[in-house]
Amino acid sequence: MSTTAQDFRPSYSPWRHGGWYVDNVRYPSGACGCVSRNFSDRKWRVVADNTCAGEPGDRTFPNRDSAAMAEMEDARRGWEIVAGLASFSQYPPETNGRDGRCILCDLRVKAGQGFIVLGSDSTGTYAAHLHPRCADTVREIQQGTRRNPYAAR
Ligand SMILES: [Zn+2]
Repeated sequence: MSTTAQDFRPSYSPWRHGGWYVDNVRYPSGACGCVSRNFSDRKWRVVADNTCAGEPGDRTFPNRDSAAMAEMEDARRGWEIVAGLASFSQYPPETNGRDGRCILCDLRVKAGQGFIVLGSDSTGTYAAHLHPRCADTVREIQQGTRRNPYAAR
């Protein structure tokens, strides 16, 4: 963990239905963190996981802080992935025939429908939309004009 990750203390503001924004968790897309226990089992979850109880990938946490800490690690990893990917322009558009999720906006992207495969590691393949909102964000991160808040100082 980086120094900034070790020093992380979540700060909250109310969302809705008992959920909380995690104001100091920031994704590369600009979205902030959000945790909630507004589920039938009353367990804490990271809202961005968008899972139901028992689904694959469903993560639950014993308290608000542990959910927020997990989400901070998710966001930090997102920044590292985007920054570490090879140059955006090296890849031809609409390639590979693989579906995935956009690393910036988290929406599902379909092969051949306006996304670019950026690269992959042991946990999966990373893709981003080609429309300006996501493509420009990738370039800004790689060029350092959009700053990673979790980078070691
Ligand atoms: Zn996108």
